[in-house]
Amino acid sequence: MTNNIYFIANWKMYGRTSSLNSLNKIKTLGKSKKYNKAKIIYLPPYTLIDNFVTKFKKTNISVGGQNCHHIEDYGSFTGFISPKMLKDMGCKYVIIGHSESRNSGETDFDINRKIKAALKKKLKILFCIGENLKEKRKKITHSVLQRQINNGLKGIKNYQKILIAYEPVWSIGTGVIPKNNELQFNVDKIKKILLKKTKKKLPILYGGSVNNQNISNLKNISGIKGFLVGSASLNSKKFIDIIKKTIN
Ligand code: PEP
Repeated sequence: MTNNIYFIANWKMYGRTSSLNSLNKIKTLGKSKKYNKAKIIYLPPYTLIDNFVTKFKKTNISVGGQNCHHIEDYGSFTGFISPKMLKDMGCKYVIIGHSESRNSGETDFDINRKIKAALKKKLKILFCIGENLKEKRKKITHSVLQRQINNGLKGIKNYQKILIAYEPVWSIGTGVIPKNNELQFNVDKIKKILLKKTKKKLPILYGGSVNNQNISNLKNISGIKGFLVGSASLNSKKFIDIIKKTIN
């Protein structure tokens, strides 16, 4: 495993062509040697993928899709995007299993098929897992994580292109982050489950209300290889601050 630290900017259903103007400073950072440990990946809405790929040409910043279909090439699926299409646009990554997609009916089975399809097209996978508030209260977090990992990665042999994003659902968009001991415990547990399942050390990222205030605390959790940032990534100044505070 490398020493890279991942910073994923998930723009969800935000942004339009004029938003590109706010990315000049991050583009400069993406070319600087000082921050070459930072693997910055933008996940814009589909409508802006082309613009982002063009914007970040000749930088270390990559672009990814926010989901994909489980059919890897083409098909009669109105409104969907395939891994082949993402690849064709210049995407290197795709996020699969985000809780907002799970909430609209995506199952572990769907997620597994999507991961396999995306791997066939040589995309790198940001595979999201995480317990919701009800599951946390019922104290079944670890069995939920175990089920999501085992089902999501079922039948997969090559884990080289897979990164895990641990995102407690109750922390996404709420401003609430887990206590350090809880987060450390869950990250250690995920590490163990993954090692048992894959015999490999996959990079584990944390996501859920990461901002430029709490990052100095979050970066101390051992075993975390980066951060998935939603709302704070829409503000370039805050996102750059998160990167600088982590790397410095
Ligand atoms: C996310 O979109 O995965 C996320 C973590 O969002 P936020 O940072 O806004 O909680």
